[in-house]
Amino acid sequence: MIVIDEQGMIIRVNQAWIDFCVENQAPETTWKIGSDYYGHLDRHGKHSELHAVKQVVNGEKIEHKQMYPFSFRAGGTQWFSAKIRPIQTIDRIGGAIVFLKPVSLHTVQPITAESVLESMTEGFCLMDDQLKINYINEIGEQLLQVKREDVVGRNLFASFPEAEGTTFDKEYNRAMKENVTVQFEEFFTPLNAWFNVKVCPLKRGGIALYFQDITDRKKTEEKLTEYAYIDYLTGLPNRRMMTHIAVSLREEKKKFSVFYINLDNLKFVNALHNYNAGDKVLRSVAQKLKELTGDKCKIGRLDGDEFVAIRQHKKGERLEEFAEELKTVFKKPFILDDFQSVNVHVSIGIACYPFNSESLGELVSFAETAMYEAKKVRGSSYAFFRPKMNVERDRRVKIEEGLMGNPSESGFYFTVQPQVDGNSGEIVGIEVLSRWNHPKLGELSPLEFIEVAEQSGTIASLTNLLLKEVFTKIKDWEMRYGWSLRTAINMTPSLLANPAFFNGFFELIDQYGIKPELIEIEITEQAELTYSEITLENLLLCKSKGISIAIDDFGTGYSMIAYLTHYPINKIKVDRFFIQKIGQDNKSEAVLTSLIHFAKSIECELLAEGVERPEEVAFLKENDCSIYQGYLFDKPMKVTDFEVKYLQNKYRFPVE
Ligand code: C2E
Ligand code: CA
Ligand code: CA
Repeated sequence: MIVIDEQGMIIRVNQAWIDFCVENQAPETTWKIGSDYYGHLDRHGKHSELHAVKQVVNGEKIEHKQMYPFSFRAGGTQWFSAKIRPIQTIDRIGGAIVFLKPVSLHTVQPITAESVLESMTEGFCLMDDQLKINYINEIGEQLLQVKREDVVGRNLFASFPEAEGTTFDKEYNRAMKENVTVQFEEFFTPLNAWFNVKVCPLKRGGIALYFQDITDRKKTEEKLTEYAYIDYLTGLPNRRMMTHIAVSLREEKKKFSVFYINLDNLKFVNALHNYNAGDKVLRSVAQKLKELTGDKCKIGRLDGDEFVAIRQHKKGERLEEFAEELKTVFKKPFILDDFQSVNVHVSIGIACYPFNSESLGELVSFAETAMYEAKKVRGSSYAFFRPKMNVERDRRVKIEEGLMGNPSESGFYFTVQPQVDGNSGEIVGIEVLSRWNHPKLGELSPLEFIEVAEQSGTIASLTNLLLKEVFTKIKDWEMRYGWSLRTAINMTPSLLANPAFFNGFFELIDQYGIKPELIEIEITEQAELTYSEITLENLLLCKSKGISIAIDDFGTGYSMIAYLTHYPINKIKVDRFFIQKIGQDNKSEAVLTSLIHFAKSIECELLAEGVERPEEVAFLKENDCSIYQGYLFDKPMKVTDFEVKYLQNKYRFPVE
């Protein structure tokens, strides 16, 4: 069978025709789509056949039948019956179908329009103006999963009530009203399948319906679009998808809240283990959040360590409870591939639509702001957005901007605080304490900007800058005053686990020609730093070079004993918390004395921080702790003041 258009071009051909032509070495023009079939008949002298075909196509004949012999090259003849029928479209004839059948077969079937329709690969259905189905082909039966006898003679909507109100319903009406052919794609829920549907109004009334199952293609398309809306790592909806969800809730005039979920210490997990570990944690978090929240709300991942939950408001429900539920995901440690476990905490910021803002962009940024507020609390916590937070956020942004630029050009400097030997009255070292006189915000506490630097990933460059300035000063003092005391510099846990930072640190020491034994690094135990190989390696390297390692704020953190047993610590700075209690609280005094004994027993140097009263000095001296740092001696001071007092005037504290 071939189908030709009005110009006699082959527009369709079935496999049997091709096989026959190829087998008998007929020219390509007899079977190739796009070939000129009229031209072929003409060239081969088949004029009567050509005439007949043209008559059918021109509408002069409804059908043409002819028998003719075909001589095989190998010899022998085969009679064929040819049947040519017009292709009727809405208003004209759009070509013809040519059938050939060997007539020697006894079971020659009558070739009818029906057999054409049956041989189609599309579903086909004929209906009258009232949508009564008059005919459906076999493919149509298969695609719609119906039996001919059940649907023919019945109204379409009676057989497929679910089709009412669908695109089909709309498009069919349009096709009929405007008398145009329409084509569209539709998902038909009862069959769980996508169809490409063509509705052609017929000239004589009624419509012809062509349909194909395009579910596979749709699935591929969906997969592709899914990639644009799904986070590849966790399989959760991504930022784009979450935006869609929020937008549609807003369109439905629903109230909802945004929970901005940030993992606190993923940076450390990546630094201490590796990125696979971080990914593993992210995937487990995603999984657990999904399990926890179920259908109650939508969970998505924005990027990095940031997740978001969108929760529709329900009457009488307390958002605090949901926030608490989210926190439970982080109660237990996460297990890594190598069976190590890590604790991850979460900070959650909450903003409500439309209560906090009617702008979705603003809403998310408010939730983020609240998240930063939650971050200030140690461990997992949440915070609701309050307008006042915006002021703090602006402040944060300004600090971050300053850190991104060149901080020393925008007021970053450092002070030093002397460390005093109570027995001799001489200073034995200094601690470097950063300061920032911000052009817009004024004097900033290091507690504030160090935290921002840590969170914004600028701590390494800031510390580097500080090191250069400090080293320059040390060299200067060395030349002018023969300076040979120890200088302590604070380092955050993320730096300790950062080998690149340490390489730079050692390079600077070489470059500036600093004696390593004059440098001390202070590590604080405030952050819950779990044991890490990299930190240990870095600290061992420091030790091997002669750099001193002090543990800061001793007694206040979680892991003081772990620090002392894991890391090569050679100095303990007892926190001001204990020193303050001297003379006020017997219990704390007892703890303090045992801390001192403990330090002595493991041969650590000892320093008391935040010494403010002479009484404290007396107690400490009695208990064999004689190195002090505190306001009683000096506050952190400008470098020039320090120079005058201690280097030029060689000040000494009086001793009894
Ligand atoms: P820290 O390392 O424990 O530093 C001691 C803090 O206690 C300093 O506050 C100091 O001014 C204060 N202090 C000293 N003696 C006394 C006293 O007798 N009484 C009282 N009430 N306070 C005293 P500061 O300079 O505000 O620094 C706060 C914290 O900021 C530091 O605590 C340190 O953890 C961090 N920090 C400062 N500079 C840097 C830095 O360059 N890098 C890093 N990573 N952290 C820094
Ligand atoms: Ca310190
Ligand atoms: Ca301290």
